[in-house]
Amino acid sequence: MEKDVKEVLVSETNIKKLVAQLGQRITSDYEGKEIMVICILKGAVMFCADLIREIKVPLKLDFMAVSSYGESTESSGAVQILKDLDSSVEGRHLLIVEDIVDTGLTLRYLISILNARGPASIKTCAFLDKPERRKVDVKIDYSGIEIPDAFVIGYGLDYAEDYRHLPYVAVLSSEVYEK
Ligand code: 5GP
Repeated sequence: MEKDVKEVLVSETNIKKLVAQLGQRITSDYEGKEIMVICILKGAVMFCADLIREIKVPLKLDFMAVSSYGESTESSGAVQILKDLDSSVEGRHLLIVEDIVDTGLTLRYLISILNARGPASIKTCAFLDKPERRKVDVKIDYSGIEIPDAFVIGYGLDYAEDYRHLPYVAVLSSEVYEK
């Protein structure tokens, strides 16, 4: 396992600190409101579970799954809903929680389809941001940390469904996917 890790980018201690900071900002921005947190499966599960425990205003949690890279390290660009929300978003204050924003295509798609359902507001939160890779302009209201252009794993992020359980964010050794 450790041999597949090239470099740790965000340590467990750093993750804790960044998540607490995001939670504080969200708590103060949403004072007096109830949030509907939309966790994007599967990658955002760990981040979202940590984040919502740092949010001190009322909230409801729902999940949505969209197509990811499959077994590749490159985005196909096409986004597909694999699992939709269980509840209606009409009149609610939505907070989309993503693991990482890379090209921005997924987040832009999510904003557009959720917007069409008549929410009161939509904001976005992503733990990791790879700005160098952006293909479309998309606003991340709450961003944890910017990282360089590298394929990362851990803290919910996978490569072919492996490594999600690593408690830190790391760069995957290229030997793993060049095998
Ligand atoms: P985007 O649509 O912004 O290109 O990509 C968003 C999705 O691609 C993320 O939610 C995540 O699932 C996946 N992704 C993007 N970059 C990485 C990466 O470095 N590592 C992993 N494991 N997934 C990534």
